[in-house]
Amino acid sequence: GANLNNSFTFDNFIEGKSNQLAHAAALQVAENPGGAYNPLFIYGGVGLGKTHLMQAVGTELMRHNPNAKVVYLHSERFVADMVKALQLNAINDFKRYYRTVDALLIDDIQFFAGKDRTQEEFFHTFNALLEGGQQMILTCDRYPKEIQGLEDRLKSRFGWGLTVAIEPPELETRVAILMSKAEESGIKLSYDSAFFIAQKIRSNVRELEGALKRVIANSHFTGRAITPDFVRESLKDLLALQDKLVNIDNIQRIVAEYYKIKISDLLSKRRSRSVARPRQVAMSLAKELTNHSLPEIGDAFGGRDHTTALHAIRKIKELQDTDSDIREDYKQLMRILTT
Ligand code: ADP
Ligand code: MG
Repeated sequence: GANLNNSFTFDNFIEGKSNQLAHAAALQVAENPGGAYNPLFIYGGVGLGKTHLMQAVGTELMRHNPNAKVVYLHSERFVADMVKALQLNAINDFKRYYRTVDALLIDDIQFFAGKDRTQEEFFHTFNALLEGGQQMILTCDRYPKEIQGLEDRLKSRFGWGLTVAIEPPELETRVAILMSKAEESGIKLSYDSAFFIAQKIRSNVRELEGALKRVIANSHFTGRAITPDFVRESLKDLLALQDKLVNIDNIQRIVAEYYKIKISDLLSKRRSRSVARPRQVAMSLAKELTNHSLPEIGDAFGGRDHTTALHAIRKIKELQDTDSDIREDYKQLMRILTT
């Protein structure tokens, strides 16, 4: 396979609620390429395992059939190769190459945005591959319909197979990923230490791995065992930086921007829904993302008391189960604040 990275396998991909669908779809495609899930379109934020999963499918396809022509490439590479082919008058070779693959894996296709000639070329390649029953897997950092500067006909085709999202991993999955990565590195990581890291680092798996590497390196250098206290010490700078970025002020600013209201509205006595909901969302985020107590959070929102803060947090928790708008808002805001 071209550009396949054998270190990304299904074996070392930890499944959790946040990636369950994408994982199941990827497995299915590896078993039955060119079947019902063509193309497989995986979207989600940075560092959540899109490339890993896509590569795992490629590796698995090669394991089933070592002669398969499985081609992985980043979308920018596709663009660059096409431009070069045009310059060299070799566009027919370019076309032939891509149309004779058994599986084509193109990563981060958001970079096709605004590249009209590339989209034109890819459109025809896409049609030819689909017609030929050759599997395509595409990834993107957002939902296809949200890519500005991408032709509608491509957007619609991207949805012809199966579109699945990968979400940021929840706490338990983050713990499991850390334990697995530590084991891969031959390191004994206690559950408590993994839990400590997972609690502090919530943004994405890449950051999680970075934090773990830092702890492991520090343990090598100092010869000290990895305990939660040692982890805290090793990540001190990182966590301080994070605390500086995610504080109540920033949460208020970002929530106000998001809902297009004023920060002063969040702090005001106004109780209309258009202000009260964002305020409750902001208080919940403050509880989840900072170490402030309920009285402190209440106080930071216009001098409210801790029962108001508690009520806000319970309300938002409840709404996340029953109201898909709030659920989406909360997720988006978490993402903005933690990446
Ligand atoms: P993306 O392409 O979505 O930006 P990557 O696939 O590059 O993310 O993943 C970033 C890092 O996190 C990689 O080292 C990958 O192996 C790891 N990773 C992501 N999700 C998982 C998972 N569920 N289990 C194990 N490792 C993961
Ligand atoms: Mg990637």
